[in-house]
Amino acid sequence: MENLLRKEMVRARVRRDASYDGLFYVGVRTMKIYCLPSCKARLSLEENMVFFSTREKAITAGYRSCKRCKPDLYPDITPYWLNKVLDYMKNNVSQRINEKILVRVAGVDISTIRRNFKLYCRSTPIAYHRKLRLAYAKELIRKGANSNELPSQCGFKSNSGFRAAFSKEFGHSPGEVYNV
Ligand SMILES: [Zn+2]
Repeated sequence: MENLLRKEMVRARVRRDASYDGLFYVGVRTMKIYCLPSCKARLSLEENMVFFSTREKAITAGYRSCKRCKPDLYPDITPYWLNKVLDYMKNNVSQRINEKILVRVAGVDISTIRRNFKLYCRSTPIAYHRKLRLAYAKELIRKGANSNELPSQCGFKSNSGFRAAFSKEFGHSPGEVYNV
């Protein structure tokens, strides 16, 4: 929740946006009840909304769970589709992927994917996948891969692009791995 601004959470609550469920909980100060962002119950005044990153914090602050949206029963897990996307990325480290593909794999829109990656992986989805590809490249180098074929094996178009990305990620060139 640290990455979510109050403004964004208020907006999610007002829109009853279920893609935020589990990312934060919203309490009603006057009633001491907390809800999922998607709760269909009548909205409280914005000034009475209190936000919690976890249920525990809401409970500790003396809030009871709403009988309508039952936030106490909401699974305390990362979004169901996130693991699907992460698996897909891990299984496709030899090629570049784009956000369109991720939308298809996840079955949710790209802004939801980006927001959750920021929250859970502290990165954009594409940058996260690039890291996986570079880690794979390093593994291939250690196994003695042919350096000329490396870029294409990890989804890089050019040798120079690969070398630049590799050096930025690891602080040394691909060639230096060979020498270790
Ligand atoms: Zn509720």
